[in-house]
Amino acid sequence: MNLSYWEIQSWLTNIDFTIVGSGIVGLNCALHLRQRFPKAKILVLEKGMLPQGASTKNAGFACFGSLSEIIDDLKTHSEDEVIELIKKRVDGLKLLRETLGDKTIDYQNLGGYELFLESDEELYDTCLKNQDSINTLLQPVFKDDVFSLKENSFNFKNIKPSYSFNQFEGQIDTGKMMEALLSKAQKEGVKILNNCTVIQFDDDADGVKVETNNFEFSTKNLLIATNGFASKLIEQPVKPARAQVLITKPIKDLHIKGTFHLDEGYYYFRNINNRILFGGGRNLDFKTEETSEFGETEIIQHKLEELLKTTILPNINFEIDHSWSGIMGVGQQKKAIVKQISNHVYCGVRLGGMGVAIGSLVGKELADLLK
Ligand SMILES: Cc1cc2nc3c(=O)[nH]c(=O)nc-3n(C[C@H](O)[C@H](O)[C@H](O)COP(=O)(O)OP(=O)(O)OC[C@H]3O[C@@H](n4cnc5c(N)ncnc54)[C@H](O)[C@@H]3O)c2cc1C
Repeated sequence: MNLSYWEIQSWLTNIDFTIVGSGIVGLNCALHLRQRFPKAKILVLEKGMLPQGASTKNAGFACFGSLSEIIDDLKTHSEDEVIELIKKRVDGLKLLRETLGDKTIDYQNLGGYELFLESDEELYDTCLKNQDSINTLLQPVFKDDVFSLKENSFNFKNIKPSYSFNQFEGQIDTGKMMEALLSKAQKEGVKILNNCTVIQFDDDADGVKVETNNFEFSTKNLLIATNGFASKLIEQPVKPARAQVLITKPIKDLHIKGTFHLDEGYYYFRNINNRILFGGGRNLDFKTEETSEFGETEIIQHKLEELLKTTILPNINFEIDHSWSGIMGVGQQKKAIVKQISNHVYCGVRLGGMGVAIGSLVGKELADLLK
């Protein structure tokens, strides 16, 4: 693209920080860089018309781990590591709520529930047995018991008679959060260019030469916040993981309120505006879902519809309104990768399924890497 003198001068010259990706991490990073460097020229490059990864696609759970997930994490992480992971999520949620305000993101503390399928005898027993010790483990973070048992008052079918209730779990309106983050960044003088894909970069003595699908330019520092797409630009242990979601049409007098985890967290659903938003099922076809291409598949969408009919909304007439997918960044380790890669290049990637919780903090940590 042949840019004008004015375009080059105003948008693409003397750039202090260029952030790749306008998801939760990229935008929070921009906001913290602005706090630390009030006069800096900050540019965000985003390949999509809107942010096109996970931040505008997710389920909006403000969660930090279900009982079975914490028990499972303790198999591969030490107690201290698990507490650190949970504390990061709690701190990240606090930061998100402070940055944007509960009203803006429609934060509601409706509680979280973990449902156990009728056939999940072993998992159910393990959770019952370990509930007290996990509450004790988390006492220093929450100063109260996190998990308790509740009767199946929402009348779900094919599940155990009680579910695990988490009194500290909440939900947000994902669209409102991202709208607010984008407009806050713009108000703070952060320039955001959409439909602009970074193709490659070259870190040399004076800064970084960046090639995009539209133009080339130089920046003093490059910060990569591309999560599930990271491996296209940098070599870090992070893989794409697609997650599919659907939403029902509004259901009259919908009685279900809260965030819900089913089948070890492979499925998740919540209420939103009298609808049920329902996602998951990657475990049905991990290989196909290890992709950075958006899309829905018959096998997963069919399973989601079936579980709605048989388990979540039995005896209730509902219609599916819409389905979509998003791309997460995952790896063997649950910890995000926040580090300097070369002289002027940094990354904050691999947010897993908890980016609403940790995204704000990872963005801040990424900004704090800069001297
Ligand atoms: C369906 C789904 C449900 C989820 N539910 C929850 C939930 O309930 N609670 C929770 O805590 N987390 C949830 N998550 C995870 C959470 O959404 C993510 O962890 C978080 O959004 C990651 O934010 P990010 O900024 O790191 O990445 P992203 O939001 O993916 O942002 C990366 C951005 O980089 C852009 N980009 C990529 N490559 C380039 C390039 N070369 N040039 C320019 N731009 C580029 C992308 O378009 C994208 O906008 C869910 C995720 C999905 C997909």
